[in-house]
Amino acid sequence: MDSIIEVKNLQKKYGDFYAVNGISFEVVKGEVFGLLGPNGAGKSTTMEMLVGLRKPDGGTATIAGHSIGKDASKIKQEIGIQLQSTSLFELLKVKEIIELYASFYPSHIPIQPLIDEMLLTEKQNSLVKGLSGGQKQRLAIALALIHDPQIIFLDEPTTGLDPQARRTLWDIILTLKERGKTVVLSTHYMDEAHVLADRIGIMDQGKLIALDTPNNLVSSIEAESAIEFKTKSPERVDEFNHLESVTNIVVNHDFVTLYTRNLQFSLIALLEYTKEKDISISDLSTRSATLEDVFLSMTGRGLREE
Ligand code: ADP
Ligand code: MG
Repeated sequence: MDSIIEVKNLQKKYGDFYAVNGISFEVVKGEVFGLLGPNGAGKSTTMEMLVGLRKPDGGTATIAGHSIGKDASKIKQEIGIQLQSTSLFELLKVKEIIELYASFYPSHIPIQPLIDEMLLTEKQNSLVKGLSGGQKQRLAIALALIHDPQIIFLDEPTTGLDPQARRTLWDIILTLKERGKTVVLSTHYMDEAHVLADRIGIMDQGKLIALDTPNNLVSSIEAESAIEFKTKSPERVDEFNHLESVTNIVVNHDFVTLYTRNLQFSLIALLEYTKEKDISISDLSTRSATLEDVFLSMTGRGLREE
């Protein structure tokens, strides 16, 4: 594997609190690497350290062979960044701001094809402040691409967008990959990570708790399905561990998620057992296991809980 980013034991502390607590991973040239985790996991802090906006308190990282903190100007030429906090000049027009950014670099890619490709052709003479959320994100990506970098950092590019705008952005990100760019993308949407990322690092509380392809991550919990229900006796759910084919149980207040290797066997066993023991359950549903379940079974929490 040809890695283009190497991160070793990277740390960031605020006072006594570790926002990023010793994470290590490699990003392979040409892949979309996803950092998946809930709010506060440390995704943005990690990306900001890699692109040179925050100084690590420990660890090392190299980008295209250059050490962060040492070769900042060389790294700048290799990377394009769209960060959560990117604020655009609201009173410039779309094309003007792209031309402005282009002027910051010794060379840049042709502007009009870039505008067209980001689906901003009709908006190129509009003020930035009049753009929709999706259009603003596409503009931010255009600005990240202007100097033709080989690595693109996208920090939660679709957060807050409507489903259609999200899908448009997914297509754009997949096109970047097809063109050989390496993309590092953070998200708290498991569906997005699954669709876009070749490999996913799952982050929680400043740590990388798992790293693999989406399919391997889902397989790792050894459950093909989840059975969900509510119960008034959450203290008794440990008893369900003995039910046929059950691999794991996660309880959140009165809401139970029961993972199984065989949905049919476990479902029948659950219904028979709860009837026999007079344990009341309600709101029963079943579904296939997803990346969300990988997070849930590792942390006991959902990806979108605070
Ligand atoms: P994510 O992007 O995954 O939501 P962040 O990297 O933004 O997470 O934040 C990780 C943790 O670090 C959070 O608990 C956040 O509150 C904290 N944090 C981030 N920036 C600062 C800062 N400048 N000062 C103090 N704490 C911070
Ligand atoms: Mg963030």
